[in-house]
Amino acid sequence: MRQEEGLRVGRIKENIEDIIAKKEEITAKAGRNKDEVLLVAVTKTRTAEEINEAIDAGITHIGENKVQEIMDKFDQVKRVNWHMIGHLQTNKVKYIIDKVYMIHSVDSLKLAEEIDKRAGQSGIMMNILIQVNAAEEESKFGITTEETGMLIQEILKRCPHIKIKGLMCIAPFEDNPEEVRGYFRQVKELYEQFGSISHERLDFQYLSMGMSNDYEVAIQEGSNLIRVGTAIFGERNYSNK
Ligand SMILES: *Cc1c(COP(=O)(O)O)cnc(C)c1O
Repeated sequence: MRQEEGLRVGRIKENIEDIIAKKEEITAKAGRNKDEVLLVAVTKTRTAEEINEAIDAGITHIGENKVQEIMDKFDQVKRVNWHMIGHLQTNKVKYIIDKVYMIHSVDSLKLAEEIDKRAGQSGIMMNILIQVNAAEEESKFGITTEETGMLIQEILKRCPHIKIKGLMCIAPFEDNPEEVRGYFRQVKELYEQFGSISHERLDFQYLSMGMSNDYEVAIQEGSNLIRVGTAIFGERNYSNK
């Protein structure tokens, strides 16, 4: 075990450097700014030590998919921007409202209204992304592309403590990431369409798509925020949590 841990040290840094090189290469090819794509390190199941190692290697944004893990690790991790990227139950919003920089997984007005209420109580504006389930997979959360415009309009109308910063999508897992290119393209089109709405609480800045398996394709299709776990930290071991 010790030895394994020893091996892992150093690899986190190297892995991060590899991903940064890759994203710079892809953006350069597309004539985009090399700093345009934000790397969010997905730290679910990882220890505070591992996360701090990633932060020492330059990571400034981390993503968790469970409220409990954010609460457990928040005080042990160096100062960094936390992203809630997983499904969020309304009754748990209150635990993270003052901890996270952005919530990626807004897919209902009910959830948005709870975020709005808690943000108002805390005296803050909360950044959110709308989660779009472009492939309409039953196993995934998120709204359909058709529902996206309506939800955005409703949030703008009813939620004065929310800033809509963009869209998020989780593509279906495919061994060959080329298979999901079309979904990324669809969500990028929505991002262009709704990003042009002029409203003081709509400020599209993030198109959150791409994970370890498909981030290269996602960036090629216009993503500017990738959520990467396994490619930084190795395979997750859920039983070891
Ligand atoms: C776990 C997770 C990721 C990262 O997945 P990897 O395949 O480990 O890179 C990204 N986004 C969400 C929403 C996740 O839950």
